[in-house]
Amino acid sequence: MSPTIAIIGAGFGGLCMAIQLERAGIRSYTVFEKGPGVGGTWRDNTYPGAGCDVPSHLYSFSFERYSSWTRRYPGQPEILGYLERCADKYGLRPRIRLNTEVTAAAFDESLGRWRVHTSSGEELFDVVVSAVGQLNRPRLPGIPGMADFAGAAFHSARWDHSQDLTGRRVAVIGNGSSAAQLIPRVAEAAGRLDVFQRTPNWVIPKPDAVFGGAVRTALRRLPFLQRGYREWIYRYAEATLYRALAGGWSAGLLRRRALDHLHRQVQDPRLRAKLTPGYPVGCRRVVIDSAFYPALTRPNVDLVTEPIVRITPAGVETTAGLHEADVIVYATGFQGTGFLTPIDVVGRHGRRLAEEWKDGAEAYLGIAVPHFPNLFLLYGPNTNLGHSSIVFMIECQVRYIMGCLPHLARRGPMEVRPEAMDAWRRSLERAMDTMVWGAGCTSWYKNAAGRVTNNWPSPTPVYRRLTRAPRPSAFRFARGPVRTAGADCR
Ligand code: NAP
Repeated sequence: MSPTIAIIGAGFGGLCMAIQLERAGIRSYTVFEKGPGVGGTWRDNTYPGAGCDVPSHLYSFSFERYSSWTRRYPGQPEILGYLERCADKYGLRPRIRLNTEVTAAAFDESLGRWRVHTSSGEELFDVVVSAVGQLNRPRLPGIPGMADFAGAAFHSARWDHSQDLTGRRVAVIGNGSSAAQLIPRVAEAAGRLDVFQRTPNWVIPKPDAVFGGAVRTALRRLPFLQRGYREWIYRYAEATLYRALAGGWSAGLLRRRALDHLHRQVQDPRLRAKLTPGYPVGCRRVVIDSAFYPALTRPNVDLVTEPIVRITPAGVETTAGLHEADVIVYATGFQGTGFLTPIDVVGRHGRRLAEEWKDGAEAYLGIAVPHFPNLFLLYGPNTNLGHSSIVFMIECQVRYIMGCLPHLARRGPMEVRPEAMDAWRRSLERAMDTMVWGAGCTSWYKNAAGRVTNNWPSPTPVYRRLTRAPRPSAFRFARGPVRTAGADCR
């Protein structure tokens, strides 16, 4: 008898969870998706040039390898297509409810079940799996005067495709990974482009390549080749990039690589100086892009580093004056430390997740939270990576949750013990001490108090080992009644 499961979100995480349930023959799940289609961040981010700077053969499910990637680094349409095909192939669509936003979830102690509130009503489930991601809510900057702007303005993750940028004056605020991808494309179309940079980022080259027909055929016909290639990308990232973030042997090499890239692509010493970060490489997300710097050297592009004072009806005003614009693009990132916000999640004894996390989100293995029985998180606190594929982490989490299901079906709602959480927190803090993220920079990895709430600090094989199977002693079980799939809609 299978527990009923509510999955929130139909991005990489939610689809992975649903696929593994299907593969296990468990169909008593519902995926709630607030948007009009599957794909999560890959449905939302349609800005020109959107793509992934993790190689495609690693940025995909290990159990659903795809030999036909057309490039080493996949573009957004190709990743979205991959996820759409996964949803079709595993027959997930009938159990995905699109345009249905989960607004609240409350654990009903008398029933031992979750009351899940959506935009279309309330339903009961035994288990809630959050797969909302870390970067699903755009963050608009609180710059004074934004509402007064007379032209078109939109966030990079809400691209307004009705706006033809050809020949127009465009302002892009921000210079993170999203901005770096869209700026080269916008620069080609715009008459004039002003890029507003507050803090420079370290940038390394993206060695993209087209996979021609012969390569794709070889990868299809010789599965061991594809497996080996994927494994090689994975191991390379652990051996070099991770070591750099952990202050290891490759930190100097990564810095050298970034500086060489800057010197090769930007000749003007004044522009170079503006683009040279003053904090250790890796402290913030390293931008991986080969077209960003060349775009900034175009005659129609200006890098503006004077602080923004306000937005006026005519454009962006800095301490040095007004930059007139027809269109403003806010490439200003996401509310990454908010995790499940704004969903109102209430656990045992009326405890609110938002209140529990007021000093920073945390979860045992990034998956389970004390006082919130049968709530599991995918891509939860401290499971983001600065060096490898999040899909790897999601697969570890899904396997772990699948391992929890027989326990909770037998022994009732399971809740991680506070002692297990405390031990987890201590080990995380120890591992975090060695990482570069704390080294005097701001980033979306940290909450307002400066605590790194988003990133995983150890090598990813360690995470795989820790999440191989749940340890029942880390949980208390309610031994409540076992629920079965059934007509629970209200
Ligand atoms: P981001 O890295 O958080 O960058 C936001 C940018 O907006 C920063 O340059 C920030 O400046 C600027 N900004 C924010 N508020 C501002 C204000 N009030 N005034 C001036 N500037 C302001 O956001 P993102 O580029 O969307 O990327 C977010 C994450 O998404 C990445 O780190 C990455 O994990 C993921 N991503 C991945 C890929 C990929 O290829 N895998 C592509 C895109 C995004 P400061 O730096 O000074 O704060």
